[in-house]
Amino acid sequence: KDASPANAMVAVHQVLQEVWGYDSFRPLQEASIRAVLDRRDSLTVLPTGGGKSLCFQAPSLCIDGMAVVVSPLISLMKDQVDALRACGVNAAFINSSLTQQEKRTVADQIRAGQIKMLYVAPERLLSNRMLEFLQQTPISFFAIDEAHCISNWGHDFRPEYRGLRILKEWFPAAAVHAYTATASQPVRDDILSQLELRNAEVLVGDFDRPNLTYRMLRANRRLQQVLDVIGRHRGESGIVYCISRKEVERTAAALNQMGTVALPYHAGMSDDERKNNQDAFIKDACDVIVATVAFGMGIDKSNVRFVVHAGMPKSIEHYQQESGRAGRDGLESECVLIYSGGDVVTWKKIMQGDSQAASGGAIESLEAINQLCCSPVCRHKALVEHFGQPYTHENCGGCDVCLDEIALVEDPITLSQKILSCVLRVQERFGAAHTAKVLVGSSEQRILQLGHDKLSTYGLLSGDGLDAVRMWIDQLAQQGYLRRTGEYQVLSLSDSGRRLLHRDGDPRLSVPGQKKSS
Ligand code: ADP
Ligand code: ZN
Repeated sequence: KDASPANAMVAVHQVLQEVWGYDSFRPLQEASIRAVLDRRDSLTVLPTGGGKSLCFQAPSLCIDGMAVVVSPLISLMKDQVDALRACGVNAAFINSSLTQQEKRTVADQIRAGQIKMLYVAPERLLSNRMLEFLQQTPISFFAIDEAHCISNWGHDFRPEYRGLRILKEWFPAAAVHAYTATASQPVRDDILSQLELRNAEVLVGDFDRPNLTYRMLRANRRLQQVLDVIGRHRGESGIVYCISRKEVERTAAALNQMGTVALPYHAGMSDDERKNNQDAFIKDACDVIVATVAFGMGIDKSNVRFVVHAGMPKSIEHYQQESGRAGRDGLESECVLIYSGGDVVTWKKIMQGDSQAASGGAIESLEAINQLCCSPVCRHKALVEHFGQPYTHENCGGCDVCLDEIALVEDPITLSQKILSCVLRVQERFGAAHTAKVLVGSSEQRILQLGHDKLSTYGLLSGDGLDAVRMWIDQLAQQGYLRRTGEYQVLSLSDSGRRLLHRDGDPRLSVPGQKKSS
């Protein structure tokens, strides 16, 4: 009793409301779901937080048979299955965290046709036993989540994903749908060819948010910097993100003292308190919610006019998602990120206690957002290009860099030459910290031992201070003139860095801590 695609779309709208309680689709969700209902292979590229899961979850409830969802991480599977069960959906996962008995129970439920969505890791799916078992099961479709893992062009290559190409041999009748947040063309092409998708519908979401104005400020007086933003948005709704629960409590109290109605939100509060505060925010009973990143999962308030990060977010992906909660209605909104080197240290401490974070590239992601903050490059451009899309506007007119709010070094080429020569003088064998010390003329034991005080570049930037030099090195790395490699993040010159030594290039270096007054 398979419904026709038109009826099926009506059914999808119904489950959207009844199962998830959402009123409408996010951009591209409906087109992506249509491909699933039409049983046409597809690839959907949406930014993190764009709502990819719904694109396969909702239609799976409206098609006969069981959908098989390939997911790379056990923790991700469990979260999704728990969330689905909480909505009353019969979902299950099979992975190494289950006992033999639990696996048998799931298999029995599948045989009885009771499971609509089965989450499984690729290596398990590809065992002959599993494939044979699934061949006897009516399958509605395959959904490959985090599909960029199939590509070694991506940042998260997983060889096991390569095996997924045999799905088309074993299940010629079933459509295969791939989902990722990585938009670059080589990764996209790789996904299509590796999975042998046929005549696939390719849907790529827009990663830019032109109605958002981005500002990234080095922290000096954080609370005052937060208040400045709120002051520009009197009577409007906004979110202030803090790294820790303690910071949330402290900031919320301070804001209230200064006359802003602000409520806290973090995982240490009771469910009731959290729900009350979230409801108050959604109903405009308070202006500001001060939150850890726990806030925002599944809330959709369209008139958020500003998002302030009172501390650095943990990755560019998180920043895209959290700042993206501003301006959902398409109206002008402001996103301000306040950061410091201390925030990086705080995050590293938090991540140390988390082995999964260490193996999942969390430190690299943290360095990437830090570099983005530090570098005076158009914020829209930096964000969009991070997600693999080209950005062609010369001046976005919507970020602190393009609005000319950041004071730039007057002769960045000469300054860059000094830094790059120093990297060469230490034979491209040291990291940023050491190189910066040589440039400012530190008399540290190790510098003297290595004889680096004898180099022609020793003390070349002695008037500028270690922090500034470190920042410029970050900026040159972010703009591709310097590379960092290996565990010790050893600096070396890229091709464009070598050209810059001959004054060929356009580096942008900022004056530390200085903001142009407009
Ligand atoms: P992604 O996998 O693309 O990063 P998710 O599937 O996790 O994104 O969705 C991000 C958030 O958006 C989730 O909290 C989800 O519940 C919510 N969401 C998804 N689709 C909708 C929708 N149509 N309306 C409202 N909220 C949605
Ligand atoms: Zn810009």
